Amino acid sequence: SAPTRDRLRIAIQKSGRLADPARSLLAACGLSWRQSRDKLFCFGESLPVDLLLVRDDDIPGLIADGVCDLGVVGLNELDEQAKARRQLGLADAYQPLRGLGFGQCRLMIAVPEEWDWQGPAQLAGRRIATSYPAILAAWLKDKGVDAQVVELSGSVEIAPKLGTADLICDLVSSGATLAANQLKPVETLLDSEAVLAGPAHALDDARAGLMAMLLRRLDGLSRVQD
Ligand code: ATP
Ligand code: ZN
Repeated sequence: SAPTRDRLRIAIQKSGRLADPARSLLAACGLSWRQSRDKLFCFGESLPVDLLLVRDDDIPGLIADGVCDLGVVGLNELDEQAKARRQLGLADAYQPLRGLGFGQCRLMIAVPEEWDWQGPAQLAGRRIATSYPAILAAWLKDKGVDAQVVELSGSVEIAPKLGTADLICDLVSSGATLAANQLKPVETLLDSEAVLAGPAHALDDARAGLMAMLLRRLDGLSRVQD
């Protein structure tokens, strides 16, 4: 059985788009920490709530393994890893608890500008580059389209130019990156934002109370902002 703990541990991105807003939001909930921001671990001072600073890709796994109790991560990343687990026949290990109102983006299909877009059926037999193979595979299956998923860990938007794929499925916020690569967005697979993610099953020790308090404070903040 899992060890009981009396401190809550939250994983956030070490650096990147979600790092600063995640820390600010948790600070606004009354949390403060002893370590400086470039350290891996921040010891909670005002409350027994510690931070682990990691790559965003690692956050779902850290929750699944019980290393962390909560995480601030893009719904895109959480959903990708949840679907990948399901495709492997593994049980659900985490869930989004709250949308946090930052990190908004969309996971979209983007095709070469000159394509005359008529719908998903047009993707049959094509090669699609993406860092989100599980979400893309589920979407293609839902649409009844048979296409080839080319998994790339980065620089997905240059794949059509390089000839490694015909089109892409990638995160879009302003669309500037797509336009710079002569691509246009045509279908949305997921509307994403940063979420507070937690385990699929409730905790049953002192951390449960801390988690409930943190959620109450978060909800209080969003009421003030609305
Ligand atoms: P890490 O080093 O932690 O792996 P990363 O390069 O994977 O960093 P970022 O680029 O910082 O991650 O993006 C983190 C999250 O920010 C994304 O998963 C997504 O939820 C969100 N996001 C918002 N807008 C965009 C965008 N235009 N492009 C990519 N991600 C975006
Ligand atoms: Zn990442």
